[in-house]
Amino acid sequence: MEQYAEKQVSRRRLFGALLAELGNLVLPAADADTVLRYVRPPGALEEKALITACSRCGECINTCPRGALAALPPEEGLAMGTPYLDLRQNPCDLCLECTRVCPTGALRVVNREEARLGLARIDRGRCLGWQGTLCQACKEACPEKGTISLMDASRPRIDSMRCTGCGFCIEACLADPPAIKLTTGSSVSVPTTQVGKEVGKVD
Ligand code: SF4
Ligand code: SF4
Ligand code: SF4
Repeated sequence: MEQYAEKQVSRRRLFGALLAELGNLVLPAADADTVLRYVRPPGALEEKALITACSRCGECINTCPRGALAALPPEEGLAMGTPYLDLRQNPCDLCLECTRVCPTGALRVVNREEARLGLARIDRGRCLGWQGTLCQACKEACPEKGTISLMDASRPRIDSMRCTGCGFCIEACLADPPAIKLTTGSSVSVPTTQVGKEVGKVD
């Protein structure tokens, strides 16, 4: 049984290595921005580098204590098997365990202070608070206290200097689909001032 499991793991690794190699051949021709479609774990390299560096070993996915990570399915092409988060279902604690076990450097080890998955933005047209209903679910769910504030006691705003992109507000949002999205596309942990176009603004 153990041997069978080992064989399965090595097959997965081999397949992952082949995909990564293929990514190396194909992706340099692509515009990196066109592949920024998924929310990646903290510490992830930029998309093109992640797709080529990740061996699809699944260590990060198996390690995540929240079960928040999954592998992209075959229909995602070259990104298949690489880790992503569906924040509506599973936000990220930023425990950084996934970055510690990654054997290839596809997820870099980063400090808790640096780590972020993106930047949450509120769609005011869909937000209940901005439409005049008392809600506040996002503010209550945000673990980074002071990041979400309420204008006139009802309309939420997100401080982009503090937001880590953890997604707890997205999970909690009472609008369906949620009125909050992660906007940078980049999960690379960089200083706040380098992430997204809206940095420094309050949503
Ligand atoms: S930082 Fe922790 S909670 Fe977030 S994806 Fe990695 S292991 Fe999961
Ligand atoms: S606003 Fe708060 S809960 Fe939402 S992603 Fe940012 S830090 Fe997380
Ligand atoms: S939880 Fe969603 S609907 Fe409610 S105030 Fe926050 S963004 Fe708006």
